Amino acid sequence: MKNKIIITIDGYSSTGKSTLAQALARKLDYKYFDSGAMYRAVTLFALRRNIFDKDPWDQKRLHDLLPEIDLSVQHLSLNGENIETEIRSMAVSERVSLVASIPEVREKLLHLQQALGQDRGIVMEGRDIGSVVFPNADLKIFLTASLEVRVARRYKELIEKGQKTTYEKVLNNLTERDRIDSSRIVAPLIKPIDAKEINNTHLNLEAQLDHIYQLSK
Ligand code: C5P
Repeated sequence: MKNKIIITIDGYSSTGKSTLAQALARKLDYKYFDSGAMYRAVTLFALRRNIFDKDPWDQKRLHDLLPEIDLSVQHLSLNGENIETEIRSMAVSERVSLVASIPEVREKLLHLQQALGQDRGIVMEGRDIGSVVFPNADLKIFLTASLEVRVARRYKELIEKGQKTTYEKVLNNLTERDRIDSSRIVAPLIKPIDAKEINNTHLNLEAQLDHIYQLSK
């Protein structure tokens, strides 16, 4: 198809980026990519190699082990293993922002993410997609929602998946991730200057989808 574009969706944790990006990609017949899953996969790898067992955690060892991480991006896998369920655990959520703040980790993932945009026709979501990965993207969205709504959504999602957690734990995790993601030195979470901000605290999926679909035209 002609005129395929690149659409980026960035924003704070649990603003509904994945649901929106997937629905949009389906509607446009585009590829969809969840960049956060990559950072979660690296974090899972680090957990399995006991990188967090020491205090402070062993950043240098993770750096040294990076060449051993092979991420296949079509259907995300870590060294050949399907890790889709495991990367959503609280253990991963509690450490992923630390891992994502390491410049060498970001460098490794940046190249994989940029390669996915070569043929355009993609909706990619994350924290630095419009600012760093695709600074020339045709359409950039920055999603926001109230903290209460975000925590309630994430808590419901985790409970429905059978994970044991509490509202307070989810609240602390989202607040802490947003703080680390916004204050890191390399590729911090920011609203790109040319992004359209959508606050979806009181918007359903259909309304957001219609709005972005019109913008994409
Ligand atoms: O999107 P998700 O909540 O799964 O992302 C998990 C974490 O991965 C974020 O909190 C952030 O630390 C990191 N991330 C990032 N840059 C991206 C996507 C995710 O730093 N583009």
